Amino acid sequence: MDLDESIFVAGHRGLVGSAIVRRLQAAGHRRLLLRTHAELDLTDAAATRAFFAAERPRHVFLAAAKVGGIVANNDFPADFIRENLAIQTSVIDAAWHAGVERLLFLGSSCIYPKHAPQPMPESCLLTGPLEPTNRAYALAKIAGIEMCWSYNRQHGTRYLAAMPTNLYGAGDNYHPTNSHVIPALLRKFHEAKTRGEPSVTVWGSGTPRREFLCSDDMADACVFLMNLPDERFDALLGSDEAKTGRFEPPLVNVGVGEDVTIAELAELVRRTVGYEGAIVYDRSKPDGTPRKLMDVSRLAAAGWRASTTLADGLALAYRDFLASEARR
Ligand code: GDP
Repeated sequence: MDLDESIFVAGHRGLVGSAIVRRLQAAGHRRLLLRTHAELDLTDAAATRAFFAAERPRHVFLAAAKVGGIVANNDFPADFIRENLAIQTSVIDAAWHAGVERLLFLGSSCIYPKHAPQPMPESCLLTGPLEPTNRAYALAKIAGIEMCWSYNRQHGTRYLAAMPTNLYGAGDNYHPTNSHVIPALLRKFHEAKTRGEPSVTVWGSGTPRREFLCSDDMADACVFLMNLPDERFDALLGSDEAKTGRFEPPLVNVGVGEDVTIAELAELVRRTVGYEGAIVYDRSKPDGTPRKLMDVSRLAAAGWRASTTLADGLALAYRDFLASEARR
């Protein structure tokens, strides 16, 4: 991507989209196309097509999506499937009509089967039943990957899907109960420290394992992928199964390739915040899946590795939490 080529970052206010914008701006990209939801409703296919026709972006990062935690996914599955299908359908189709050169479609690791092998390779897509609580979201994202693949096959486009592991970072949702584990623990340990409480309660047994990627590393990986030379980018677009007999969707996992237990994470957060009390486990709360680790060998072979350690990423996230509290 040349510095004066126009780049549309769809979803630029989200955790990933905002990190991509920071990363592109730091690299000196001058022509970023950014639209708030109020300015452009991406579920509106006609409006999206008109926007692409007028602005003619060369590159697209599709980070706009309806996302949420387990409770939201479980309570509003109709909203999750409708909005995500609508957003990706209008953007992918408008990108094709406007002759976009490359598009990166973002999703999440929940596209993989509930009982996928660990670590999870890209090839385990569509090999088993999904986790039921977020199936509507996951199926929309799987449809998005299939749509990228289909447009590549039928129209010769270059659309790639990148699926990140659990993300955290600046601009996260720090709600005490509706958030993911890292922002939740940052808040819990911080509040226990400031209130002088003797212990912090962590949900579950502390034994589940999770992989955590900081949103700045995710953005770095996205920009790395979009900057790959043609031959290496095209190698990630998979193959036409009808011709080769091989199931190779245009799909790349983005993660660190290592995981930690929730107990190890809690200890790291305790140290990051500087809390000296005890950690107590509430086993009445669910552990969720025992392990969720990405196989990142495809991305490693392409030449990218995560560079932020969990300790450094947590320090950065804690600063962001403090700044967001100061703004309230
Ligand atoms: P998951 O990866 O989809 O299970 O998402 P979460 O980030 O919500 O949870 C990861 C793990 O952290 C689960 O085993 C939770 O039980 C555990 N956990 C421990 N304390 C908390 C907390 O305060 N909030 C959340 N969300 N999870 C917690």
